[in-house]
This record gives sequence, C-alpha cells and structure tokens, in this order.
Amino acid sequence: MNSDKTLPARTGTELSVIVPAFNEAEGIAAFLEILFGVLRGCCTRFEVWIVDDGSRDDTWLRVHAVHEHYPELGGIRFTRNFGKEAAVLAGLRQSSGAAVVVMDSDGQHPPSLLPEMLDAWRAGEAQIIAAQKAARPSDRLMERLNAHLFNTLMRTMTGLDLSAASDYRLLDRRVVDALLAFPERVRFFRGMTVWTGFTTKNLAFEVAPRLAGSSHWSTAQLTKLAVNAITAYSAKPLGLVFRSGLVGMVAAILLFLQAMYSWITGIAVSGWTSVTVVMLFFGSANLLGIGVLGAYLAQIFDEIKARPEYLIRQELDAAVPILKPDNAR
Ligand code: UDP
Ligand code: MG
Repeated sequence: MNSDKTLPARTGTELSVIVPAFNEAEGIAAFLEILFGVLRGCCTRFEVWIVDDGSRDDTWLRVHAVHEHYPELGGIRFTRNFGKEAAVLAGLRQSSGAAVVVMDSDGQHPPSLLPEMLDAWRAGEAQIIAAQKAARPSDRLMERLNAHLFNTLMRTMTGLDLSAASDYRLLDRRVVDALLAFPERVRFFRGMTVWTGFTTKNLAFEVAPRLAGSSHWSTAQLTKLAVNAITAYSAKPLGLVFRSGLVGMVAAILLFLQAMYSWITGIAVSGWTSVTVVMLFFGSANLLGIGVLGAYLAQIFDEIKARPEYLIRQELDAAVPILKPDNAR
C-alpha cells in the first residue's frame, strides 16, 4: 500500500512546509499562527521554511519576532526579489522532510487542507497531492482575465492544463529530488511537477481571500511567466511562425499574379494602398517572427549564463531537536 511513498528522510523530519513570502509583513504572523496550529495537530516531526523573496517591508522582522515561539520555523532571506520560482527552489533545497508542501503565505492556500493532504500521502495514494482551486471568488475581474488568458495560452501552446492547478501541493521526497536534479535555471514549478509524471491525487479547495495586502502579480510579470513557461515547454510558437510564413507566401504569390495580370492587360498601377497594406502586413509578420526567435534565444542565453537562481542575505535556523535513532521513524 505504501509502495509509492518514500521512507522518511534520515533526519526523521516527516514534513517540510515551504512558504515563499514577498511583502507579506501585514499577514505573516497571523498566517504562521494558523499554520502551526494545524501542523501541531497533524504531524509530530515537521519544519517550516519561510523564504523571504527580498521583501521591501518588514516581513523578515516579523518572522524574526515570532521565531522564538516556533522552534520548527526556519527562514531564508534573499538579497533582493528573485521571484516566487526562485523562492520555491531555495525552499526545496533546504527541505529535509519525507514529504514537502509548498504553499502561499497570504492565507489563500488554507492550512486546514494540510491534514487531508498528509493523510492521502501517508496512505500512499499518490506521490503528488495537488490542491486544485475550486473557485476564485476573491479575484478581481482583471486578475481573472489575466489568469484565463495565461491558462488558455498554456493549454494551446504546451498541452499542460493548469487552469485548476495551483502551487499548493505536497510532494513526496522522490519528486523533490527529481525536481532538484533538473539542471535548468528558468523554472516553472507547477508545470515541472506535472511534467514529471509522478502519480497525482487532486484535492479541491476554495481559494480564500488574502489575509492582508494585495497580489503581487502584474500583467507584465504574468506575461513574462507565460513566455518563459511556453518557451520552456514547447516549440509550438516556432511552428506557428513558420506556418504563418507559408500563408504569407501564398498571399504574396496571389498578389504577384494579380500584379502581373494588371501589367499584361495594361491596367495602370492602382496607387500605393495595396503596396502599403502588404508592406505593413509582412513588416509586422517579420517582427513577430523575430520576437518569437528572440524569446527562445533569451531562454538559451539565461540558461547558458548559468548564474545562481538567487542569492541569500541571511538565514534563520529551524531548531529541530535531534532525535535519537530509536525515536526516529
Ligand atoms: N511571492 C514571492 N515572490 C514574488 C511574488 C510573490 O515569493 O515575487 C509569494 C507571495 O508572498 C505569496 C505567493 O508568492 O506567498 C503568491 O503570491 P500572490 O499572492 O501575490 O499571487 P496570487 O495569489 O495572486 O497567485
Ligand atoms: Mg495570493
């Protein structure tokens, strides 16, 4: 029954919870209180890692202030904002649990779902327990539009359906190790876990309103995420450009035939309208094609530079007591 489940890691930690946080000072203490309440009820050997993604507010100070109440709480602070993907990666690298949960720090991923996720994993039901958004009632119209656009693009371009997927998921150690072995720098956590193909069980949850603050995704950031995700997972845009090139070629041949016909029959050249339209059309098609090539080139460039995904400014240790071997499960 437990065959899919990796044995607890050597340290004896059963569950690591990774929480990326960017400018969450207002809500972080309340979130940690709820989280620890739930964790203490369902797990004896756990650790929590807050990854402060270069917050410009007091997030780190607040984490520091409550640290003494929670011996299982550790923290990593980036030198600047490197993005949520980098924060998740840092947390995965730091985690030692036999199971690892990634969740948001704004309260939108309800900790109350944790016991159910943990039970499903303990029973060996799957190696990935993914929380799926049942509804997003708290979102504004613009956010919903952005999300819809993003998911449609992803589905048509990469074939990965992420519409109900969230970053809130429990991963077996085996999955975490697989993800950490990926050599690539440009990362897309949600897509990568789906890509690995490990057995997955979905649990539905209602997206709660934020505890405080506002969402930090701008349209520009989402566009960047979509371009990164698409170029990392699919070469379809290149094919698309090629096909539109073909269509353009056919149109050009037809126009050429028409021009020859006009010339042969002696009809005067009919002004610049058609020429302008054709020029504009092919001009923009060219630019678009170069743009797509550029997106792939940028992806290759980022990978080849092989810069670190993030830099750590400060750490806060989780003081998990060392277990005697006979206690360790
Ligand atoms: N986050 C982060 N780095 C960023 C942006 C966001 O670590 O550059 C964290 C943020 O603190 C939160 C999670 O990622 O815990 C999700 O962010 P947000 O709530 O803004 O996104 P949404 O809920 O709208 O997807
Ligand atoms: Mg949120």
